Parts: sequence; C-alpha cells; structure tokens
Amino acid sequence: MVKLKDTILEADTLVTCDPSNRVIKDAAIFISNGIIQGVGTKKEINQDYSASKIIEGSNKILLPGLVNTHSHSIQTFLRGKADDYALLDWLKKVVLPGEARFTSEEVYNSSLLGFAEMIRTGTTTTNDMLTTHDSIKGIKAAKEIGIRARIGKMLMDYNNDFAEIVREDAETVIESTRKQIDEYHQTQNGRIKYTLNARFLLSCSPKLMKMIVETRDEYDDLMIHSHASESQAECDAVVKMYGESYFRSLKKLNALGPETILAHGIWLDDEEYEIVKQTETRITHNPSSNCKLASGICDVLRYQDMGVIVGIGTDGPPCNNNFDMFHDMRLATFLQKVKHLDELALPAEKVLKMATIEGAQAINWENEIGSVEVGKKADLILVDTNEVNSYPFYNPISHLIYSASGKDVTMTMIDGKIVYQDGNYLTIDIEKVKRAAVKYQKKWNE
Ligand SMILES: [Zn+2]
Repeated sequence: MVKLKDTILEADTLVTCDPSNRVIKDAAIFISNGIIQGVGTKKEINQDYSASKIIEGSNKILLPGLVNTHSHSIQTFLRGKADDYALLDWLKKVVLPGEARFTSEEVYNSSLLGFAEMIRTGTTTTNDMLTTHDSIKGIKAAKEIGIRARIGKMLMDYNNDFAEIVREDAETVIESTRKQIDEYHQTQNGRIKYTLNARFLLSCSPKLMKMIVETRDEYDDLMIHSHASESQAECDAVVKMYGESYFRSLKKLNALGPETILAHGIWLDDEEYEIVKQTETRITHNPSSNCKLASGICDVLRYQDMGVIVGIGTDGPPCNNNFDMFHDMRLATFLQKVKHLDELALPAEKVLKMATIEGAQAINWENEIGSVEVGKKADLILVDTNEVNSYPFYNPISHLIYSASGKDVTMTMIDGKIVYQDGNYLTIDIEKVKRAAVKYQKKWNE
C-alpha cells in the first residue's frame, strides 16, 4: 500500500458504529484530507501507513462524533432563565421574548457558546434552529468554530400569542430564507447545510407552510425541521387553528416525508403513527426537554418497531439545561425502560447508534458521517477512561451510555481538524465568549 503522510489516531478501544458494530482493541485509524482512509489495529495501520502526526490514545475510547438531531444554540444565553414552566408558557413568558431581544452580537455569542459546549461534550454535528433575526450571525458562529451543521433562521409568520413579537410576513420570511440558502447551503467543504426551520404550526400560517414546502422541493438536500405534537395543550391549539390533528394537518400541507425531521412526536393516535411511517418522516427524540417541560414520553420503541428513523436531540438550554448528548443518551434509554416496564428496552448498543449513525440517517447525512468507516469524514471523538467513574472497565459501550459524561471527552475532530483538545478550544477565544455571556447576564439583571 502507498505510504501517505497524514494523521494516525490511536486508542485502546475503537467503537465504530459500522454495520457490523465492530469494536477493535489496540486500534488506530489513518486520516488524510479529512477522510478516514484506514481502520484497523495499531499493528495493521502502522504497517500500511506512515503519518506526519500521531495522536496517542491510551486509556481512551475512540468513536464517531455524536449527532445532535435537535438543538437551539441561539437560546444558550437563556440557560437558567426558564425553569419549571410547561411548553406554551415557557415560550410566551421567556423564550420568545428572549430571542426577540437578542442583539446581533448576542445572537453570535449565544450561538457560539452553545456550539462550544457541543464540541466540548463530543457533538460534531448538530441540526440547529436559530431565531428570526440576525440568523447569519449564528451561521457565522458555526462556520468559525468548525462544527458540522444543518442550520438556518427560524421561520414564523403567524400573528398570535406565540409569534407576535418576532414574526415576519410570509413573503419576507421566504425571501430572506432563499437569500441565505443561496449563500450558505452546502458551503465550508459541505460542512454547513441550510435547513428550513418552521418553528411549529402555531407560529406558521398555512400560507407560509406551503411556501416552505415549495422551497424544500426546489433545492437539493434541503430539509424541513420543525416541532410537532410536543404537549397536549399544543396539540389542542393546533386542532383549533388548523381544524385537524397535528400530523393530519402536516400531511395535508404536504410537509412530511424523508426530507422532514420533527422534534418530539409524543401525542399521536394510531393513524398518525401510520402517517409518520408511510411518509418516512424522521423523528428526533429529546428526552431531557420532554421531562423538564413535563410534555410526556415519546414512544421511541413504537417508532423503531415500525421502521421509523429516530435520532436524539438535546433541544435548547432553557429546557435541558445543557448540550451534553451523553446525558440525553442515558435518559433516552431510562425513559423507554420505565415507559414499557422493560429492562431490555433501548439497550446501550442501540442508543449509541441513535446518537451516531441513526442520528446521521435522521438528517440524511449517513453517507458521510455517523460511523468510523473508510471513506467517511473524519468526525471523531476520544473519551477518557482513566477517571474514577471508569473503574472497573468491562464494556466500552456500557461505559459510554451508563457511566460517562460529556466532560470525559478529551478530543473532538471535525472534518479532519481538531477543534477541541484537553481543555483547549482551538478555533475560538472561549474566554471572550464567556465574557459576552456575563455581559448579557448583567443586562438581564438590570
Ligand atoms: Zn426545540
């Protein structure tokens, strides 16, 4: 084999999340031009390749970067300001006014802080909703820090309690969205893809929804990302506004399909589950958010038994209150065990796949990310196994799901570039971002 010069990444254990779920001991991978070129044991990789750089990985698990299928980086500055509310009050009293009042600089710094927390805790890809104004500042933050993202402005036009303060008219929404698609979709070596973030039916008129669907159908690889059937009160309000249940309304609007991902999906009747299955719509389960807002428990097992693809999302800091996917992986399996009174529900292997390759499938990115395989993008993380919570260490996947936390991540690589390592954020000035958060906090307290 030709000896190429680039990076060799080593680890005591490699968890690939590939189709045969390979776990390799004393493993190494060879990366060149941001692409995984070789996967095997240290011995095999060192025989086949030489590298200008070797990243050593004793007492480490190497695995694909985590895929967060539903986030609101923009809401990071509202962390801790919206505790103990149910969904509709949470939106009306804190989240929507908070988003509306953000200055352009605050949009940038709030999003950047959110992305920093993601890369710190092992997330390499996120499916992110910004707000209605200054969304290009949020996209700028994603570009600068180096995270992989489907990202876009928040689309909302409907003049009611939920949208009044941040609403735009439908034509303005679509005009600015199209401009942003042309400028940002599939840029940064394909790392940034635009997404059509229709907030939820209560803030989108039928007219806007129709325009969003037309836009999705017009562009290649563009998805609709929205919330649906999160709380019972929300579902009742949708019936009042649209005359039909949530998923029937979405179906009538032609808004479902494999290029649509919906957050939550908790309160569905039998026919609505069938609609999700038939349309191949993707679901993102957000366990912390569902618990904190007392929304309900998503029936993940039912979706999976029907063949529906389900990813895991953190949602935003006002309803979580962090972006640590390790926390949400653990909660996802615990909630299914309790809901079904079945200790075998969503075992560790399955929930890890939901946060990696199946999360990538949920956002139609599985050909490039979500597993450690030759030809895929080098989106990788190292997890420390030398902390007190790692002893004894019998099974790496059990450790990742039931014991580890995002703070055990020691290195995050995206597109072959290290963006976080051993406490250092390599693409941004984290102290400057923290100062911006403190400034915002003082403003709120004035
Ligand atoms: Zn959300």
